[in-house]
Amino acid sequence: MTSDVGTAAARDERPAAGLADEQDETATFADLGLRPELLAALTRLGYEEPTPIQREAVPPMVAGRDLLGQAATGTGKTAAYALPVLQRLPDERPGGDPLALVLVPTRELAIQVSEALHRYGRDLGARVVPVYGGQPIPRQLRALATGVDVVVATPGRALDLLQRGSLHLGGVATVVLDEADEMLDMGFAEDLEALLAEVPEERQTVLFSATMPRRLDSMARRHLRDPLRIQVAREVPTEGQTPRVRQTAFVVARAAKPAALGRVLDVESPTAAIVFCRTRDEVDDLTETLNGRGYRAEALHGGMSQEQRDRVMGRLRGGTAELLVATDVAARGLDVEQLTHVVNYDVPAAAETYVHRIGRVGRAGREGVAITLVEPRAHRMLKTIERVTGAPIHVERVPTVADLRARRLELTRAALRESLLGDDLERFRAVVETLTDEFDVMEVALAAVKLAHEATNGPDDDEEIPEVALRLERPQREGNGDRGRPSRPRPGGGDTARLFIGAGRSAGVRPGDLVGAIAGETELRGRDVGSIEIAERFSLVEVPAGSAEEVITALRASTVKGRKVTVRRERPRP
Ligand code: AMP
Repeated sequence: MTSDVGTAAARDERPAAGLADEQDETATFADLGLRPELLAALTRLGYEEPTPIQREAVPPMVAGRDLLGQAATGTGKTAAYALPVLQRLPDERPGGDPLALVLVPTRELAIQVSEALHRYGRDLGARVVPVYGGQPIPRQLRALATGVDVVVATPGRALDLLQRGSLHLGGVATVVLDEADEMLDMGFAEDLEALLAEVPEERQTVLFSATMPRRLDSMARRHLRDPLRIQVAREVPTEGQTPRVRQTAFVVARAAKPAALGRVLDVESPTAAIVFCRTRDEVDDLTETLNGRGYRAEALHGGMSQEQRDRVMGRLRGGTAELLVATDVAARGLDVEQLTHVVNYDVPAAAETYVHRIGRVGRAGREGVAITLVEPRAHRMLKTIERVTGAPIHVERVPTVADLRARRLELTRAALRESLLGDDLERFRAVVETLTDEFDVMEVALAAVKLAHEATNGPDDDEEIPEVALRLERPQREGNGDRGRPSRPRPGGGDTARLFIGAGRSAGVRPGDLVGAIAGETELRGRDVGSIEIAERFSLVEVPAGSAEEVITALRASTVKGRKVTVRRERPRP
């Protein structure tokens, strides 16, 4: 476990250095000591095994230890703290005041984390309430007044509620600071200090952050007691081991991923590929989608019997299936000789997982291909993998419709050339000769190419997949971002586009719903959204012009207030 950003102090203080070596890499969720209600929830969600950060963080957190975790989005860090928080809730919870407080930088994250806690804690009857700026206070007051076990809050709003006497922190046994570096960047340092001062001193304190700047380290020293330090970005010994693999990544919004995967596969036309997913449900859904697109895809996950798996493997080896959609657990130990491509449908939760996965191609001197789809939020993890494995991952544009057409024509040309070189074509001569009485030879050839092309390729798909920029630098923010309404894009901050959304007041739509939907489904943050007008039957939202297509695609694929809605650019008014 090598510290990459850790300070000298971090290294001195790390009592659990070497944990990586001791950690049992095969530990299951049950081995982590989680209670049956939580295990049931994880099975229901299709999680097959803990991610490395979960293996390392859960047992000490369950035991009550303070923890300082360096982990980025995509590592499974939310469950790494959410499961222990839930596990530590007492069975009897007669009081209404919160027992745990999770602080996060943005409203989007507050919603996301509270949903995760809710999903994991359903069988425990955990009462989880998110509170954040931008939502009317009365609703949050009511939610708090009815009794709560875990509050997930942005610091500004938590402090407001504390000062109004509506949030009582006297019973809090665990405090989690998630994305702590972001909270400091957003100017929440004082709010955090004020909040921590209100929580009983004997509490457990847990801090997760993607980076560990000096300021954060000093804050951790003041508020955490003998913390266990955990870091997921470990070195992976790759030298001499990494096979010849072309590594490529495509940045796509979540909603566009199935289409992007289809497009990439169309262009790559693998002989045999494995597509790795995180959960069983994802495996099943994606297998269905790919079969719908004409691929011969087979699912492989831990919920299947040995017999079912053997059948699937037989079909892959025999060439009747070309794509295997699998979880890591199911694919362990799998050896497919003819595998040409490994696809990561998400950035893997750990660099080791990435290395294991891509080790399956590039055998026997042939070049293999590793493809990773990256949601904008997970870009940091991709950088970590690149650094840890020491091999460049080229971020490329998702092939356009024109790229795909060109590639298909190229395949047709190659097939025709092969036929011209190798096949006995004599028996077709009469057909050509009779046609040339009437048509030019070139015209006859064109018609023949068209038929051959369509017979092998099927109809062209003509939907462009919106490009998403990979934001490598953390965006600069000003002030306490969670207070008040999202601001308009600043003057000079670039062009904006207005989008029409086919739901308005009559559907109960409020500005927060639109900002939440946009920030949750795209790479935009709440503050990137400009003015919002809500009319009776529709709404108009201003977004940065460069992100308009991404927002349209994402919103079309999701719901606003639980409904599918029309989303398009606003038509110019006459
Ligand atoms: P996070 O890094 O917390 O943002 O989590 C990234 C994604 O991984 C979320 O969509 C989680 O639902 C999912 N996830 C977390 N832990 C696991 C696991 N052990 N197995 C499968 N998926 C997971």
